[in-house]
Amino acid sequence: MSTNAGTDGADGANSTDVTDVTDVVILTRALRKQFGAVTAVDGIDLQVHAGDVYGFLGANGSGKTTTVRCLLGLVLATSGEIEVLGSPMPGSAATVLTRVGALVEGPASYGHLSGRANLVMHDASGRAPQGPYGGGRRDRSQRAAEVLELVGLGAVGRRAVRAYSLGMRQRLGLAAALMRRPELLVLDEPTNGLDPQGIREIRELLLRLNADGTTIFLSSHLLAEIEQMCTRIGLLDRGQLVLQESLAALTAPTGRTQLVTPDPAAAVALLDGQLEHRDGERLLVRTSDPASLNARLVAGGVRVRELGPERHTLENVIEQRTRARATDEVPR
Ligand code: ATP
Repeated sequence: MSTNAGTDGADGANSTDVTDVTDVVILTRALRKQFGAVTAVDGIDLQVHAGDVYGFLGANGSGKTTTVRCLLGLVLATSGEIEVLGSPMPGSAATVLTRVGALVEGPASYGHLSGRANLVMHDASGRAPQGPYGGGRRDRSQRAAEVLELVGLGAVGRRAVRAYSLGMRQRLGLAAALMRRPELLVLDEPTNGLDPQGIREIRELLLRLNADGTTIFLSSHLLAEIEQMCTRIGLLDRGQLVLQESLAALTAPTGRTQLVTPDPAAAVALLDGQLEHRDGERLLVRTSDPASLNARLVAGGVRVRELGPERHTLENVIEQRTRARATDEVPR
């Protein structure tokens, strides 16, 4: 658990004892998964809150898929605890998974059947097909048509899946995950195989679903994807969770102001001890009030080309967190 020290500092969820937190929909405590000598997941404490779009970020091989598989009860953890929607996993899989939509590692489907028939069959063979969570037989075909429309496959829903592109199959997998109108969506690399237009469409769809109340947990190795969509980030590095925080907190203004001026010497003279750093015409100033800095510079005859609050980008933050870890570990 020591690996997670210091995470989650900015949004008040830094306690590992979160049994009193009622809106946590995914919780792990010291989750660990070992494959022989390989530690794929190394004691992670995840916290995903209701309403989050949680981005689970990590390089290839960092342990994302293994974590997702543990959450869904597809693989048994070596040690640690998991709760999904308030119930322990995998013990409560039968009831929990009827409320969860999942897409993990390339959805399976029957090539000779249409997308729609695949969805109907998938739903009929799923858990509690007549259960209370929207798995009923009577509206099954209707729900299949609706979700095909939602993921942009409305026009090809009757075509055999063997004629689908990789991106279309990915959308079909997402459609299957949506059939039961889940409270929680767990998606492993959901935009795999999609072109930029497809990625945008899926992003917009997921954001719409989230706005309607669905909590989304998605893994990705694509920083831009996570940055554009997620409200909270968990960063996995060689099996360890090195960061878990809200995106807003991570990219909040640092309290310093960036200034670009063609008159750097005059600006430095005027700044009187407030200068943090100078690189040619670029100055970093210790003030969180760019407006009054601008007024002072202009009044002092200093020309201002660019001025604004300094913010860390997610990319900076990730670089810092992963660089800060011991570099003598052998990457897997
Ligand atoms: P990717 O983005 O490439 O899918 P990932 O972050 O999802 O990567 P995992 O697939 O979880 O990472 O793999 C984490 C580590 O565990 C890797 O070293 C991988 O080789 C190993 N691993 C995963 N599954 C197994 C398995 N069934 N048997 C042995 N080793 C495994």
